[in-house]
Amino acid sequence: MKLVPRYTDIADNFAIEDQPSSVAAPQLLLWNASLAKQFNLDVEPQLRASNFAGNEPQSVKAVALGYSGHQFGHFSPRLGDGRAHLLGAVNDDKNQLWDIQLKGSGVTPYSRGGDGKCALGPAVREYVMSEAMHALGIPTTRCLAVVGTGETVYRSQPQPGAVVTRIASSHIRVGSFQYLATQGDIEGLKKLADLAIERHYPEIKSEGPERYLAFLASVTNNQVSLIINWMRVGFIHGVMNTDNTLVSGETIDYGPCAMMDNFDFDTVFSSIDKQGRYAFGNQPNMASWNCARLAESLIPLISDDEEKAVSLLTPLIHRFSEKFNTEFTAMWGKKLGLVGVKEGDKELVSELLTLLQEHHLDYTNTFDALTEFVNGNATLPEELTEWANKWQRRISNESYEIMRAANPCIIPRNHIIETILAEYNELGSSKLMSRFIKVANNPYLFSDDMTEFQKVHLNDTNYKTFCGT
Ligand code: AMP
Ligand code: MG
Repeated sequence: MKLVPRYTDIADNFAIEDQPSSVAAPQLLLWNASLAKQFNLDVEPQLRASNFAGNEPQSVKAVALGYSGHQFGHFSPRLGDGRAHLLGAVNDDKNQLWDIQLKGSGVTPYSRGGDGKCALGPAVREYVMSEAMHALGIPTTRCLAVVGTGETVYRSQPQPGAVVTRIASSHIRVGSFQYLATQGDIEGLKKLADLAIERHYPEIKSEGPERYLAFLASVTNNQVSLIINWMRVGFIHGVMNTDNTLVSGETIDYGPCAMMDNFDFDTVFSSIDKQGRYAFGNQPNMASWNCARLAESLIPLISDDEEKAVSLLTPLIHRFSEKFNTEFTAMWGKKLGLVGVKEGDKELVSELLTLLQEHHLDYTNTFDALTEFVNGNATLPEELTEWANKWQRRISNESYEIMRAANPCIIPRNHIIETILAEYNELGSSKLMSRFIKVANNPYLFSDDMTEFQKVHLNDTNYKTFCGT
């Protein structure tokens, strides 16, 4: 594995050299062969477990990154990789660089009293959720491997430990900018913004303040698209703190995330999200809020005159909701196969969503049924008959294709994930996982093997998730 060092020239305390801890008995539990192929990671099978447990020293020195974070609105100036080590970056077959990070690889200078470990369940959750999200066409970090450590991790109950290998186009978070801004490190801020632009927004060629304003605009646009995508499939991230927001626009940190079943904008699964801050329908507000925190951090790169900088940055944040509303309307249009925008479309969408909520209809299955109904392959729930009469007058020959591309047949339902995690905890493997991954790779194309994953589970109504640790 040929690694390139990352983030070592931003600031002295940005990337601290630190070695992963060795683990007792590494055992490879999951290996993402197609991802390995994409990165030419031709690590020999017998070396994979020790390499991706952190037992083997790598050619490049591992680092733990510093970052701050607004967690549920409260600012922590020093969070950082408390249980993760960035090994470096690799080149893919298109010559693009990707970070490789181990998570659960032991304590670092940022551990703040934590044990630096990861339990097997959350590691498998990150693997299966991120693979499913990727196949759904949603930008996300991905997992190369999950290695069991042979050690016990102590949470509310003792659990098997694991190290998960994460691949991301970068680990530059909104919180990374906050970290440097809080320290008044303007030079570091500039280097980080330039690195993020080079990596994610190379089309930005301007210099000076214009450059960083364009950067904020691009990050904001990508956040809009990301949240639209999440909402299209019913994904609830659960912990959209600024430290869990990548400026690349990829989904990161599959802690207390879950998929919405019955349609309801107020859906919350995370046990710690008592106020519904990160509820399904509040995700756009929170993404916009996070972009505003990025804007604040960029002030020193815009002007020495703070008032002037704020007056230039603020309109870009205000554009979030305008752009979101336009794309949100377009998203519902696609989910319902509406070509163009016509008078009455808004009402059509809101009447449907009201019916879904009133009758506790399953979000995924209802839109899947609407899609196949167009093709004459499905009947609709009785509650939708009257509404569907109006909708049918609005659709056209092109509708099926548009709807099929927007509405998945299957999603990683909460009960599926829980069963997979339970099987891994008990047996170190999961037959359900193998079956699920096979069909989840192609979620928009129906196959008979999918029917077991389309079933709604009543227990999911009271489903609770816990911050993945
Ligand atoms: P997360 O909830 O995974 O986004 O983590 C929030 C912060 O807590 C990050 O700085 C993590 O590195 C840190 N953290 C989470 N779990 C642990 C742990 N077991 N040991 C050390 N740090 C941790
Ligand atoms: Mg995090």
